[in-house]
Amino acid sequence: MERGEGRTRAGLLAAGLAAAVLLGGCAQRTAEPASGQIFAMDTIMSMDVYGEGGEEALARAEETIYRLEDLWAVTDENSEIWALNHSGGAWVDLSQETADLLSQALELCALTDGALDLTAYSAVQAWGFTTGEYRVPSQEELDALIPRIDYTRLELDGDGLRARLPENMELDLGAVAKGYTGTYLAEQLRQAGVTSAILRLGGNIQAVGTRPDGNPWRVAIQDPDSQQEATLGVVEVSDQAVITSGGYQRYFEENGETYWHIMDPDTAAPARSGLTSVTVIGADGTVCDALSTALFVMGPEEAADFWRAHPELGVELILVLEDGTVQITQGLEETFTLSQDRTMEVIAP
Ligand code: ADP
Ligand code: MG
Repeated sequence: MERGEGRTRAGLLAAGLAAAVLLGGCAQRTAEPASGQIFAMDTIMSMDVYGEGGEEALARAEETIYRLEDLWAVTDENSEIWALNHSGGAWVDLSQETADLLSQALELCALTDGALDLTAYSAVQAWGFTTGEYRVPSQEELDALIPRIDYTRLELDGDGLRARLPENMELDLGAVAKGYTGTYLAEQLRQAGVTSAILRLGGNIQAVGTRPDGNPWRVAIQDPDSQQEATLGVVEVSDQAVITSGGYQRYFEENGETYWHIMDPDTAAPARSGLTSVTVIGADGTVCDALSTALFVMGPEEAADFWRAHPELGVELILVLEDGTVQITQGLEETFTLSQDRTMEVIAP
């Protein structure tokens, strides 16, 4: 069996650096940012904070990441998510942040008609993505997993500060946690007076304000088909999240088939929908992260229909299809530039 870049720290380091933010070649003489790189939430995170007070703001952001990670790490016996997964069906008390994220995520599970399903975790585990001991479960095993994937069985009480999950089910926040964290940190930084920062949380980018020179941030979108982590294109953003889900991020190969970490809740198997990557751009990182996963499960036609049906979400999409075609939604026509010679189609409202 061949392993994907998977869980090795070196692999993740390379992947983290590949989610590049281009600072432009010309000598722009702005002060150096406060910069930090940490390993958290199972990925490499790096942040650049510009302007006065950058060092303190950066230190506070790193503390916040570790605090949120401690709440949600699905394999950490002290986390709130671990407690929910091992409560034997009893009510579990939650912190405000966990309650907040769980209730937003549950709404997004419903909005995507279960393409996003937080309780897909038992399938993620069965395929070995939690340990790196990858395996292809038998059809019998998958059939037994399917009824254990159903986000409607997760209950939140009135103010959402308690939750309950049936005994034979497990959930994780992997599909939404980094997006939520990015927007949470962005808010914290703005409140501290920061007007220019860029946060790279694995493949998730969160822009705060603009570049220090007032121009938009230029975020490189990775080519999902390249082994060399080539750039597919560049999108210009300010104060937005740019979040990509793809089959190339965490996967393994067996008997010539590739299996990745995004599950179709209907089959308990990796989602094979005709897409190789989905990028979602918008103001709310939780929404973008949830949709990047859900639209990957839905496939290109359903994803475009979903986007047309939900203008209120204010998101734009970059879809890469299995045949190499790139599709962008109309709002990106001015701000997205392809770096490669590919067919590009525009999805109209
Ligand atoms: P990444 O974390 O690599 O950026 P995603 O945001 O797409 O990618 O989240 C994938 C993670 O979410 C998986 O590792 C798994 O824990 C979980 N997951 C997989 N499939 C689903 C799904 N259909 N709904 C919700 N969570 C999922
Ligand atoms: Mg996601």
